[in-house]
Amino acid sequence: MKTLGLYVFIDALGWEVLKKHPEFLADLAPHRKPLETILGYSSACDPSIISGLTPSEHKLWSSYYYLREGASPFAWTRWLGLLPESLSERARVRHYLSKLVKKVCGISGYFQLYNVPFRYLPLFHYAEWKRIWEIKPEGLPEGSTIFDLMHAAGLSWYVHDSRKKDEGKLADLHQALEAGEINLAYISLGRLDALMHAEGTSSPKIAELLKWYDTRIHELMTTASASYDDVRLHIFTDHGMHDIHEGYDLQRDIDALGLRFGKDYIAFYDSTMGRFWPLTGTAETRLRETLLEHPKGRLLPEAELRRLGVYFPDGQYGDLIFLMHPGIQIAPSFMGRKAIAGMHGFHPEDSDSRAMICANYVLPVDLTCIQQIFGLMCATTGLTPPAGRAVPQSLFQP
Ligand SMILES: [Zn+2]
Repeated sequence: MKTLGLYVFIDALGWEVLKKHPEFLADLAPHRKPLETILGYSSACDPSIISGLTPSEHKLWSSYYYLREGASPFAWTRWLGLLPESLSERARVRHYLSKLVKKVCGISGYFQLYNVPFRYLPLFHYAEWKRIWEIKPEGLPEGSTIFDLMHAAGLSWYVHDSRKKDEGKLADLHQALEAGEINLAYISLGRLDALMHAEGTSSPKIAELLKWYDTRIHELMTTASASYDDVRLHIFTDHGMHDIHEGYDLQRDIDALGLRFGKDYIAFYDSTMGRFWPLTGTAETRLRETLLEHPKGRLLPEAELRRLGVYFPDGQYGDLIFLMHPGIQIAPSFMGRKAIAGMHGFHPEDSDSRAMICANYVLPVDLTCIQQIFGLMCATTGLTPPAGRAVPQSLFQP
């Protein structure tokens, strides 16, 4: 009996979006359920899905973090801060410079300069330095992924090349399925995420794109069924999408405190989170007061960060974590200058944040959060998950 675990990741196809399009793969994958996401962005969720670990455990959460000690790998980029804003703010210039910095630094993971002010870049380090989809010594900073485990067990797999577009990834996967030599396939498709960032969750183009995906996945199943006796199909995602109803300039409020960036405090402004490292007692008090009373978001207490699996005792990603209320985007932020139609990265308990999974078999009842997808991948390849991983326990009971 030749079996295949087919894992199709559709970025941002959350439970709420899926509910609006119940016809999507209703024939092929009728077993579906919502899954709790992880606070943060794909940089946090993807590593959790392939490892069954939380960001606190695998150490990947947001993109950039303040380097308290030692030299920043971006110290040499100081000259970029001298570029006139008319040049350094152009998207094409930033795109080219991202490629240059990635190459010079030897970063193999997903890397973008986004809108990080060049004058602050030498204060930071970047989390996803290595390609998480590769086996060690690439992969996660801490903990093994499903790919590391499969490698150790002598199994074969296909995983997408993130540099390619959806069409290219699908073509590669068809080839791998035809050869019939893999035990697991993992493909990440990104067009829906990009569409909803640009047009929001009510765009009429969503139905059209889901239909396109529906057809592509039927084709994958046809190809897979020719080489395998049993294909376990999973369509899943890491987070949902929120419509943005307000862009809010959080930086202006912080700047108004009169504290000095780099001397009194460091901040990193993600799209939905402000992360702060106070450098003096006074700065910590002022920042805390401002953030605790702020009407547009919430300072997350330690207990909540722990519960969400994103607490870092060394403050790697910030000593103070401020999360915007759902639908309010920080704009400008270090990720982009303007608010856009759709964004994710709000509180996991908000319904639009929820992820989902659809399958062609009855899913375990105790499958409730995205990091447990790792357990499904272990089960479909016959692997025993290492101790301490999030897995649906019912799958591994003797
Ligand atoms: Zn996105």
